[in-house]
Amino acid sequence: MAVTTARGEKGSFMRPSSIAQSIHEQIYERIMSLEIPPGARITIDGLARELDVSQTPVREALTRLEREGLVRKAHMIGYSAAPQLTRKEFEDLYKFRLMLEPESARQACLRLTPETLARIEAAAADMEEGEPPVDRNSRYSRFARSDAHLHDEILKVADNDIVRQAINDQHVHLHIFRLMFHSRVTQEALEEHERLLEAFRAGDAEAAYEAMYDHISRSRSRLTAAFE
Ligand SMILES: [Zn+2]
Repeated sequence: MAVTTARGEKGSFMRPSSIAQSIHEQIYERIMSLEIPPGARITIDGLARELDVSQTPVREALTRLEREGLVRKAHMIGYSAAPQLTRKEFEDLYKFRLMLEPESARQACLRLTPETLARIEAAAADMEEGEPPVDRNSRYSRFARSDAHLHDEILKVADNDIVRQAINDQHVHLHIFRLMFHSRVTQEALEEHERLLEAFRAGDAEAAYEAMYDHISRSRSRLTAAFE
């Protein structure tokens, strides 16, 4: 499968950057779907052989995944998939989100313009539409990414760069979507997003705060099952 995606039209090879992108995508999905389990060792030559590419794009992909918090690199040992969050880390992460994201939603609501509202609406619509996913793996990893995108659009409008950076540094969505891989949560989250959008459309900052608080609290309850 990697062989076909690594080739462009008329048998010519795709640009190196496209190969790197495709390899990154494939490793990302394997980690997100737990096909590469948390903590498992990842070898560059093993992956290169499996994906039928040279070591260069695999090395590049792993460097990028390390920045994204999905793999770790240890001296003399090499790469491994990041460990799953512990219960404590999970609780801390959700408390942190509850401190920052509802207030950010309120601030975003106070600053909304027709243009920024349209961007948030587009990010939300992206989650519901898009091409049909080819399999469960790509469905979850795509959901994770588009949810991260929507939450980040709201943080952008809230316009506090330090808060936005602090949240992005936690790679919240990558971690929680590995936790939720076995649960069925996407529909509920979409309904919660819709309530948030309604608050934005109405320009009701308090309702935006409440809707975001509710969304994150419910997300925490849904994912708590992963520890039981
Ligand atoms: Zn969300």
